[in-house]
Amino acid sequence: MKKPTRVNHPPAVPVPADNRPVVAPIYQTVKFEFESVEETVRTLRGERAGYYYMRTSNPTTRQLELTLASLQDRDDCLATASGVNVIAQTLLGLTKQGDHVLCFVETYGPTRQIIRRLLGRFGVTHAMLSVEDLAGIEQALATTPTRLVIFESPTNPVTKIADIATITRLARRHGAHTVMDNTFAGLHQHGEYDVDYFLHSLTKYASGSGDVMGGAVIARAELLRPLRAEFPVLGGVLDPHAAFLIQRGLRTYFVRYREQSARALAIAQRLAAHPAVARVHYPGLPGHPQHALARAQMREFGTIVTFDLRGGAEAGRRFTEALTLFAKTASLGSTESLVMAPQMLKSRDLSAEQLAISAVTDGTVRLSLGLEDEDDLRADIDRGLAAAET
Ligand SMILES: *Cc1c(COP(=O)(O)O)cnc(C)c1O
Repeated sequence: MKKPTRVNHPPAVPVPADNRPVVAPIYQTVKFEFESVEETVRTLRGERAGYYYMRTSNPTTRQLELTLASLQDRDDCLATASGVNVIAQTLLGLTKQGDHVLCFVETYGPTRQIIRRLLGRFGVTHAMLSVEDLAGIEQALATTPTRLVIFESPTNPVTKIADIATITRLARRHGAHTVMDNTFAGLHQHGEYDVDYFLHSLTKYASGSGDVMGGAVIARAELLRPLRAEFPVLGGVLDPHAAFLIQRGLRTYFVRYREQSARALAIAQRLAAHPAVARVHYPGLPGHPQHALARAQMREFGTIVTFDLRGGAEAGRRFTEALTLFAKTASLGSTESLVMAPQMLKSRDLSAEQLAISAVTDGTVRLSLGLEDEDDLRADIDRGLAAAET
C-alpha cells in the first residue's frame, strides 16, 4: 500500500478478549463493517447484535443509555443531542394528527413552544392547566380523550411539586400516557412512580460540568420501541464523544447532587431569614407549601433555590450584579453556581392569568448552587442581599 492509501486504512490494534480497558474507549466512528454482506443484512434486520451507522446507534452512547436506564429504574433509554431535542423527538414520535395533549403552565418554556407551535402545526391540540390543579386535570381527562400528559417536578423556576402518584393514576385510568421531564429531580429520583416516559436534559446534572449537551428518554423497552424506529430518521443523535463526557460526569453524580443540594438548603434558609426576601421557593424548606409532598416523593430536593425580593425587578438586578461567584446565565446543575435575574426569567408567551399561575414575580431570582465553599457562597449571597436593599 502506498502512503495515501495507508493513512486511510490505519492498522488495527487488537486488544485481547481477556484484556479489558477499565474505562471503555470512545467509538468515534460513523461506520461499522462486517466481513460478509450477509452479516450486515442480518444486523440491519435486527436478527443479530451489531452496529452499522452512528446515527442509529453506537457502543459509547449505548453504554451511557444503559447506565441512565438503570439509574431511573427502567430497562431502556435513547440518548439524543440535547434536552430540547429529546422532548421534540419524543412528542413527535408519540403523537399524530387529531391527538390531544395535556400540559401545564409551569412547564419549561421551550416545551410549551414545541407543543403549541410544532405539534400545533401537525394538528395536535392541547390544553394547559396548572400542575397543582388536580381537580382540573381529572375533569380534563374525563371529558377530552387525551393521548399524553406531560409534566415536570419540581417545576422551573419556582419548584412547584407535581403529585406524581395522582397524575399518573388519573392518566392511566383515562388511557393517556405520561411523559415526565425529570431533569430537576435528577436521574435517581421518581423511578418508583408509574411514569411511562422520563425525559432528561443530560446537559444539567448528568454531565455536571456545563461543557456538553445531551438528552435522554427512559422507559420500558416496549414503550420505547416506536421511538427507536423513528429517532434515527429525525437525526438528533448524541455524538460518542459527548456520550463519553456525560458517562464520565455520572461517576460523580451522586456526590455532586447530594453536596449541591446541601448548599442549596443552607442558602435557602439564609434567604428565608432575610428581611429583603418576600418568599423563598425551595421544596426542602418546611415553609414550602408542598414540603410534605416533596418529602414523600424525593430523597433530595435539588440545587435550585428561587426567591422573591421585596424590592422587585431593580432589587433583583442589583442582587444579581453584586454576586461574584454566580455566573449570570441560564442552565443549572453544573459545579459552578449560576444566577438568573428577574429580567432573565420573564416568559413572553403567557397571558396575565397564566403568569399569575407561574408564580414568577417582578422580583423573582433563580439560583443554581454549585460546589464552591459554603462560607464563600454565604458571603456572596450576603453581598447580593446588601446590594438589593440599597
Ligand atoms: C434545560 C432543560 C431542558 C432542555 O435541555 P437542553 O439540554 O438545554 O436542551 C429541558 N427541560 C428542563 C426541565 C430543563 O431544565
